[in-house]
Amino acid sequence: MYSDLSQLIHNILILASKSKDLELKKDLNDLINRSLELENENRILKEKLHNQATLTIDPHGGLYWRAGDSVPYCSVCWDADGMLIHMVNSDYGWICPRERRL
Ligand SMILES: [Zn+2]
Repeated sequence: MYSDLSQLIHNILILASKSKDLELKKDLNDLINRSLELENENRILKEKLHNQATLTIDPHGGLYWRAGDSVPYCSVCWDADGMLIHMVNSDYGWICPRERRL
């Protein structure tokens, strides 16, 4: 059992290079690409779960705080787009630099 996907793919590609079966090579290539997509998607979801577990919504709403961090995150960006965007302190309070550009 391989724990490193790239090592497994490397070994499969070496084995496949010895085959003359073009359909097998095409299917292997598709399988490898799909595996890499799923590994990346899994990494993003794990990161999001980790972030979700460490964030606390501000009682007044609009902001997420993380313990030990003195700058909050934008709740709109996190809730809608899954992006952790540090807010910027302004004369009007905390504002999202991303939304200010819009
Ligand atoms: Zn935002």
